[in-house]
Amino acid sequence: MLMQTETKPADTKSDPVARRRTFAIISHPDAGKTTLTEKLLLFGGAIQLAGEVKAKRNRVSTRSDWMGIEKERGISVVTSVMTFEYGDCVFNLLDTPGHEDFSEDTYRTLTAVDSAVMVIDAAKGIEARTRKLFEVCRLRDIPIVTFVNKLDREARDPFELLDEIEKVLALDVAPVTWPIGRGRNFAGTYDLGNGRVRRLDAADDAGTVPVTGIEDPLFDQLLTENGEAATWREEAELAETGLKPFDLQAFREGHLTPVFFGSALRNFGVRDLIDGLARFAPPPRGQDADKRLVEPTEPKMTGFVFKIQANMDPNHRDRIAFMRVCSGRLNRGMKAKLVRTGKPMSLSAPQFFFAQDRAIADEAFAGDVVGIPNHGTLRIGDTLTEGEEIVFRGVPSFAPEILRRIKLTDAMKAKKLKEALQQMGEEGVVQVFRPHDGSQAIVGVVGALQLDVLKERLQAEYGLPIDYEPTRFSICRWITADKESDLDKFIGSHGSALASDLDGAPVFMATTAFSLRYEEERAPDVRFSDIKDYQ
Ligand code: GDP
Repeated sequence: MLMQTETKPADTKSDPVARRRTFAIISHPDAGKTTLTEKLLLFGGAIQLAGEVKAKRNRVSTRSDWMGIEKERGISVVTSVMTFEYGDCVFNLLDTPGHEDFSEDTYRTLTAVDSAVMVIDAAKGIEARTRKLFEVCRLRDIPIVTFVNKLDREARDPFELLDEIEKVLALDVAPVTWPIGRGRNFAGTYDLGNGRVRRLDAADDAGTVPVTGIEDPLFDQLLTENGEAATWREEAELAETGLKPFDLQAFREGHLTPVFFGSALRNFGVRDLIDGLARFAPPPRGQDADKRLVEPTEPKMTGFVFKIQANMDPNHRDRIAFMRVCSGRLNRGMKAKLVRTGKPMSLSAPQFFFAQDRAIADEAFAGDVVGIPNHGTLRIGDTLTEGEEIVFRGVPSFAPEILRRIKLTDAMKAKKLKEALQQMGEEGVVQVFRPHDGSQAIVGVVGALQLDVLKERLQAEYGLPIDYEPTRFSICRWITADKESDLDKFIGSHGSALASDLDGAPVFMATTAFSLRYEEERAPDVRFSDIKDYQ
């Protein structure tokens, strides 16, 4: 049930920060993320024709249609951002790859959002990947809005679905709308707070009609099967009175999710969802840097890079760094400082991305994601400021689950390979480890498809044919210690199992979980970590 008084938006009309909503959609493959993205963009007026996002998959030439592997497998490998306006708000929708082999990319993207929409297939409930992505959101206290999709098909009982969300995710639920029938009897939704009905047969999801409450005869008209209306009334009453009311604070803290029911394919319920995002989803939040919390309303520009994308346009061999603006105002042409190197960088052509196009951004505010074209200057995790020496935390690197040694067929190209791997590592395509014993580089990935992407890109972009060889190592961990001497001692005595990552940080590689445990026990002063924040 909705408490209208609690949901008054901030001054979204005039304040550029208050009107930003930066979010991602999380779901299990096939739940309807692409379809929903399409419909959201349609509402935003960002695209004229639904189906344009999908076109990405159908190989109609679009900007993400650049890589053979993506074509062959029909998967979207890239993460991108789509900016659109709706009502008083500017939405930045950050797309995440659907395939779990690219989950690292998704995790990094989730560091750049302020909220997420969780799409659930009404017939399936919470599926494995939804659950995993939800856990990532929870770690970062990202508030979740739930969209129960595919109500136009055979669906599970809504109470059962809500119960599953509560139990499996340990998340309170507050339905905002309630389905009127489901499957072939799906007739629309009832807005529990407003007492209004959105009819499935109304034109283009536009208007709602007022009702006097659940007793209204409209429900008898909509639910015509024997006894259906009576059962529905009982359920709706229970939903209205028995479930938790919406509580903005609990939502913003990540304890409660407002739930919308609909059908992305039928473009139904999407407007309620987007209105809900405008009303409840938080504007850009403060971001943690090493020295302090940076508030979005601070006047000086700061931002961090969470994604690098190469070859977005086959005609221009450019490399785009996606930066989330954390504070201040980014002006085209301004000089920023790249904190990692201390060097200035001119932001001469920052870009906004829309469904299909990109355009030069003259200015951007906290919450916005801009693409910065560069030739390898920027890497994932980089912080840009107007001079301040701070580094944003939290773009993580996860210990890879698969390790492979690179086999180069042409030994003359070793130097070129080294450079190419450096680039690929900086883009986050794979992780690159250089063994201390001088042997060929080891690459680490979370999902096997990343290996295919690397191989294909090395061939296509650098003319480097490579293969992979198994290595005796199966696990790697970043190692640190409070006392440098402890770390040096460990490194000194484990030379052949040590490597350095891109930043030169030491990494211990173990052959089995057993041997890792053994080493951990023998070196209590050394910390073995499976997550590393960039920087
Ligand atoms: P994604 O893998 O999560 O991006 O899912 P898609 O958006 O590609 O949808 C997967 C399939 O479900 C496609 O065939 C869609 O047409 C279909 N689909 C998506 N939303 C709905 C819906 O609301 N109702 C029905 N019946 N099918 C849907």
